[in-house]
Amino acid sequence: MKNMPVKYILMAAALMLPLFLFLQHVFAKEEQKYAYITFDDGPTLNTPQIVETLEQYGARATFFVLEERIVRYPDFIKKIHHAKNAIGLHGVSHSEAIYYTPTSPLEEMEKANKALESVLGKRSSLVRVPFGSAYRLTKKQAEILESSGYKIWDWNVDPRDSVGQIIPERVMANLRRDLKRCKGDAVILLHDRKSTAKLLPQILQCLKEEGYTMLPLPEKGKPLNQLRG
Ligand SMILES: [Zn+2]
Repeated sequence: MKNMPVKYILMAAALMLPLFLFLQHVFAKEEQKYAYITFDDGPTLNTPQIVETLEQYGARATFFVLEERIVRYPDFIKKIHHAKNAIGLHGVSHSEAIYYTPTSPLEEMEKANKALESVLGKRSSLVRVPFGSAYRLTKKQAEILESSGYKIWDWNVDPRDSVGQIIPERVMANLRRDLKRCKGDAVILLHDRKSTAKLLPQILQCLKEEGYTMLPLPEKGKPLNQLRG
C-alpha cells in the first residue's frame, strides 16, 4: 500500500509526457516569427551576390523587379527563381508616370509581367508600386489592380538602405528599431544595391538571432499595405 502513490505518480508522469511534449510543440509554433525580406528596383549587378548570401543563410526573399531590368538581366531573374525566392513586379517607369491614369498602374504591371513571362514562362501576382501605396495610389487604381488579381504589398520595416549616405551601423539600427515596433511578421524593405549586398550577412544574422524564419511573400492571403478601406 505504501508504494502505491509512487507508482501512481510514475504512471501519471508517463501519461502526462505526451501531453507535455504536445503543448511544448504548440507553444513553440506560436512563437514562430516570419520575416519577409523584399528587394526593390532590381535586378542589378548586385543581385547574384544577394541570392547567394540568402542561400548561405537558408533564407528566401522576394524581389520586386522592373520591366527594363528583367529584359536586361534575364539570367538574374532565373537565378532568383531557381533559388526558390519569389518575384514580384515593380512596374516600368519607376516614376510619377505610373500614377497618371486610373489604369496606368495596371498597364505597367501587365507590361512587366509579360517580360517576366517571356523569361520564366510564369507570371506573378505580387506587386509593389513605386514609393509604396500610401504615396499616390488612388482607391480606384488599387481596385483595378486588385480586380485583376494583383496583391499590393508595402512593408512595415524600413532600414532605409537607399536613402542618402549609407552608414551600415545606421541601417542596422533602423532595422532593429523597426523590428521592435512591428507586431507579428516583418515585411522588410531593402534594395538591390551594392551597400545592401555587402551588409546582407549582418542583416540575416540579426534576423536569425531574433528568431525569424525568412520566407518569400505568399501569393495567397491578405497582403500588408497602406490602402484604406
Ligand atoms: Zn522602387
